Amino acid sequence: MITDPRSIDIEPLDFLVIAPHPDDAELGMGGTIAKMIDVGMRVGVLDLTSGEPTPHGSESIRQAETASATEALRLTWRGNAGLTNRKLQATLEARELLASFFRMLRPRWLFAPYWMDAHPDHVAATELVEAARFWAKLSKTDMPGDRFHPERIYYYFCIHLRLAVQPGWIVDISDHWDQKIASVMAYESQFITGRPTEPPTMIDRVRDDAAYWGKLINRRFGEPFATKEPLAIDSLRDLI
Ligand SMILES: [Zn+2]
Repeated sequence: MITDPRSIDIEPLDFLVIAPHPDDAELGMGGTIAKMIDVGMRVGVLDLTSGEPTPHGSESIRQAETASATEALRLTWRGNAGLTNRKLQATLEARELLASFFRMLRPRWLFAPYWMDAHPDHVAATELVEAARFWAKLSKTDMPGDRFHPERIYYYFCIHLRLAVQPGWIVDISDHWDQKIASVMAYESQFITGRPTEPPTMIDRVRDDAAYWGKLINRRFGEPFATKEPLAIDSLRDLI
């Protein structure tokens, strides 16, 4: 189901996660999304493509799975930009479309995929988010909504490379692990069907990653993030 940005009529979001494919937001930062929604933040996910075709999925299966993951995270808003899977490119047309979503959703922050990846769709998504962030503040255009500039772009890790990255910070998601893994497992066609059943399964891998990031901050589970612009904090009180 494709969302027309002109049809959006909601209160501004606190942050918007931009995902090349349905399941990237859940894999990369499902725990953080659930945690922030729990403290009253308004969080949206914009999937750029349908994510199909895949070996065990279909458009309708993926839509049902996305709906189930959305429910598991209790998202404030979710939409699909209707760009073409496997052909995602940072074109001017796609930039304007994304900027239109930003102008209508008015998220204070954006979360984009980390900028290095083996999947060309992910790399294109990052480039697109950065360009559209700038484009959203233009005046005298045909884009819907008022000019708007999201304050920050942060980067989450849902990558197809085995990088030993140094993240900018890690969020403790120990209390929201169940919600994260439920949102990931909602994508049965991607992570369960046809996948090895002997450990380590795909789900084991997701848990192992979260446990590794958690270990680095002396917590059970964590999710890493990066930023290009300096991270600004209001108080040292929330650092752990
Ligand atoms: Zn993806």
